[in-house]
Parts: sequence; C-alpha cells; structure tokens
Amino acid sequence: MDLFNVYPINPINIVRAKGSTIWDHEGNEYLDLYGGHAVISIGHTHPHYVDTLTQQLNRIGFYSNSVEIPIQKQLAKQLGEISGKEDYTLFLCNSGAEANENALKLASFHNKRKKVVAFSKSFHGRTSLAVAATDNPAIVAPVNETENVVFLPFNNEEALQQAFDQYGAEIAAVIIEGIQGVGGIREASASFLQLIRRLCDQYDSVYIADAVQCGYGRTGEFYSHDYAGVKADIYTMAKGMGNGFPIGGIVIAPRFEASFGLLGTTFGGNHLACAAAVAVLDIIKQEELLENARKVGEYLIRQVKTLDKVKEVRGRGLMIGIELPEELNTVKKDLLLKNRIFTGEAKPNVIRILPALNITKEIADRFLDALDERLKA
Ligand code: PMP
Repeated sequence: MDLFNVYPINPINIVRAKGSTIWDHEGNEYLDLYGGHAVISIGHTHPHYVDTLTQQLNRIGFYSNSVEIPIQKQLAKQLGEISGKEDYTLFLCNSGAEANENALKLASFHNKRKKVVAFSKSFHGRTSLAVAATDNPAIVAPVNETENVVFLPFNNEEALQQAFDQYGAEIAAVIIEGIQGVGGIREASASFLQLIRRLCDQYDSVYIADAVQCGYGRTGEFYSHDYAGVKADIYTMAKGMGNGFPIGGIVIAPRFEASFGLLGTTFGGNHLACAAAVAVLDIIKQEELLENARKVGEYLIRQVKTLDKVKEVRGRGLMIGIELPEELNTVKKDLLLKNRIFTGEAKPNVIRILPALNITKEIADRFLDALDERLKA
C-alpha cells in the first residue's frame, strides 16, 4: 500500500526530540522553532508530560462520554483559572476544524440563523463549515460550497459595519483569528475586535474567536483576544493544547447553555487526551510560560527588526512572521537544510516562528545569528 500526503516532505527522518531539539536517524541535531505547526507548546518529551500520560494510560486511556470522567472537570477548572474565563463551559473534541465546526453549529442552534461572517486570508480548518469559512476556494469541495458564508476584508471596520447594517439580523456568527496564522501572521486590530463585540451584542450574533493556532498561551495571553479588552462568546482551541496528543475544545460563555446538549463526539475528552491537556497547563503555570512567551517573543521581534533585508516583522509573543523580499524565497529551506533549524512559512514569503513557549533567549539568539548570516550572504 502506498502513502498519501498532501504536504511537501523534507528529506529528514526524525527519530527523537527533547525540548526544542530534534535528532534525525543519523544523529544530526535540529533546532525546532516550528513545533510541528504551533503544536509543541511545552517542548518535546517534557518529563512531567511523559509521566502524566504514562500514569494515565496505566490507569485508563479511554471510556466513552456516557460515564463521569473527572479529569475533564479538572481540565475545565484549570483552563478557567489560567484564562480568566471561569464562568465559561468547556466542550471537548479532537482537532481545530472540529472545534470551529462545533462553535459555528452552536451559534446557529442558538440564534437559528445561517449566515457566517469570515475574513480574507482566514484559515479555520478542512471540514465542511470550517473550510467554507476558510479563504482558500481551492480546498473547498463542491459539497462544502455555501452561500451562508460571507467574506469581508480583514481589519476593515467600514465593511464590517456595512455588512451588519445590511443583514445583521441574519448573521449567526463572526469567526476570526486573533492573529491569522496560515494567512501570514496578521493581527486583528483592537478596534476591529471591539467593533465585532459591539455588533454581535447589538444583533445577537455570536463572536467566535478561533484561538486554534494563536491560543493556549502562544501570544503571552491565553486566547489572544484579551489585548483588545473584549471577551468572545466562544473560544476554539486545539494545536498547542495537547502538545502533540490530538485534542481540541471550545469554551462557551454562559448565555448559550440551552444549546450545549446538541454537540457530541465519540473520542472527545477521553482520559488520555485530557491528561495531555492538563499536563500542558501544569507546565505553563509552573514554568511561567505565558510570561516567557511574552518576554522572549518581544526580544525576538525587536532583534529581527534590526536585521538586513527584513521587510516587515509581525506578531505577538511566540507567533512571529518575518516578511522577506520575494527574491529570498529560499531562506526557509536553507535554514532547515544548512542551519538545521525548523521554521514555518506563509505565502508568498513569510517565515513563521511558532516555537515551544519555553524557548530561551539563547535559543532565540541561535536563530537570529543564523538568519542574520543567511540574509547577509
Ligand atoms: N484554525 C486555525 C487558526 C488553524 O491554524 C488551523 C490549522 N492550521 C485550524 C483551525 C484547523 O486545525 P486542525 O488542523 O487541527 O483541524
């Protein structure tokens, strides 16, 4: 049987990892500043993470949601404490797309409406409604096509106001990433998020914050919309949540309680997945990783700005986009194959830095030196 993979594959055979270091089968060492696409949040094979998962698997790994699973409650409690959203309710699923799918469904169950507002360059996942709300028609199958999703220009307050003036009473939900990831590390302005909040209040539409990539502490804030001084109705999360163990979730403001019972999933919230998410939260708290993400992130952004040929640096905390001139489109590949540093990219020419939240200033310096050298070459 052959293997099908949609992603371009680098000729690297990863066999082991620790913290932000990865080794291939020949023992070559790599620096991981990509975290498998913002997934590795507390570093690879962290001892507390390994212990927690091992102990959980030795007790019980899975049972269905038809019984009490106390670790779900523990996870909800810890999430509430760390995010300051203690009155929200947690629903657990298995991925970012599924989280967004459920958030959009819940909104529509709540206000009985069909229209969804999404934004240019958004990415919300590859399942039916999540992909329909993703600004990339190439990955929308005919069966996913729907007139229910309206795309508006990102950060354009006039267009948003106009849309609500015209058909606000039909809008079930607005879905927005605090910082667009796949779209090239573009942050929503505080005033834009504040306008979404006001319009959703005015029209009883649901404000969904997609924190799948920018959440779980990556920006130094837990869900990444707090800097605007607004609270979303629903936050969706996944990637960094399980540090590689598949888990997703949505947290829901109290006023949607009546619609909760309409969601469901077989695997979501299983013991092992919850143990992974709890271990990640333990480590974020014990090692003060929100503060570290802020501090090292600010340092990185400040330093990258001083480098030759960098067009623009965007982002917050440890979610950073470095835009380079078009002719330097081999930099990411060179960093990997010559300097052995994993980074991400966004089209056309943005290097994306999405490392573990516990990287040190020394690790940041290793990257800065390599990038500086490559840009001067
Ligand atoms: N939302 C955002 C902002 C994402 O970046 C992604 C994944 N790139 C998703 C949703 C989908 O997550 P998943 O791949 O876990 O379904």
